[in-house]
Amino acid sequence: MQLTRRHALAAAAGIAAAPLLSPTFARAAAPVADKQAPSFYRYKVGDIQVTVVSDGRFSFPLEDTLIPNARKEEVDAALEQAFLPRDMFTIYFAPLVINTGGKLVVIDTGNGPVAKVNSKGTNGQFADNMAAAGIDPKAVDMVVISHFHTDHVNGLLAADGTPAFPNAEVLVPATEWKFWMDDGEMSRAPAGRMQGLFKNNRNIFEAGLKKKVTPYEWGKEVAPGLLAVESIGHTPGHTSYVLSSGTGKVFIQSDVTNNPNPFATHPAWHGFFDQIPDVAEATRRRVYDMVVAEKLMVQGFHYPFPGLGHVEKDGSGYRVIPAPWNPTI
Ligand SMILES: [Zn+2]
Repeated sequence: MQLTRRHALAAAAGIAAAPLLSPTFARAAAPVADKQAPSFYRYKVGDIQVTVVSDGRFSFPLEDTLIPNARKEEVDAALEQAFLPRDMFTIYFAPLVINTGGKLVVIDTGNGPVAKVNSKGTNGQFADNMAAAGIDPKAVDMVVISHFHTDHVNGLLAADGTPAFPNAEVLVPATEWKFWMDDGEMSRAPAGRMQGLFKNNRNIFEAGLKKKVTPYEWGKEVAPGLLAVESIGHTPGHTSYVLSSGTGKVFIQSDVTNNPNPFATHPAWHGFFDQIPDVAEATRRRVYDMVVAEKLMVQGFHYPFPGLGHVEKDGSGYRVIPAPWNPTI
């Protein structure tokens, strides 16, 4: 039998014609749930265990200002092609917890407890989802930060302003640290978003962490199996990582792209959040050409959860193919 639109409509009409309250149906309505399952996902890279822990999402009306070098109609068309709603944009957030056997390492920390309140729990979920995954923040040995935007650093502090990972060493890219802690750079920052970011970083790292951080260099292992890789442009010190153990390897891209639809499919589009847009684009193409050539798995902080996939070349852009959800580890 061929299922056609006519069949589907006829079936729907049949359901509608059935009596609403047949005496054979139970009368008690099951309550409708108001929460998603706690979002965390585990996989192995050799002997290392990775737990992707969602920090939630942020959805907002699409404006021309999201991508200054593309028109809103072009962006809408790209979203529609990816079966996503027009006129809206969603950013996902996915920090990582990696267990190397010897060390428990957090990579990036999400939007933090203030955002959780302000967004009514839509984001700032990292602490709750980490607890649901059975991970104690006091047991974390190291927190590695990729760059100093709010969605990556604000979870460093708990709601009372004290360190959220009280026993962890906090590792930051040396170049990123130098830029955001430079008073000259801060005084020259344009009003609005950039000044706000400087203020936020001073609050997190000076008031909150009392400058107790360890700057790290690119090309070195920052934790066992975790190699820091320069991928600048999104910020002056933006960092990605290669996590490897045995024959296992995954490229942790951080923010080389934001949501791959449309930022991987259209690598020439410059999101307003890319601080040095031309450099960010060059990095995006260089990194994606590399992961395509090497068939590397990619873990994306802003990919839809759980953010693990492969990348293939597609015309003038790239397509991310999400890895199948594995119900076992
Ligand atoms: Zn980000």
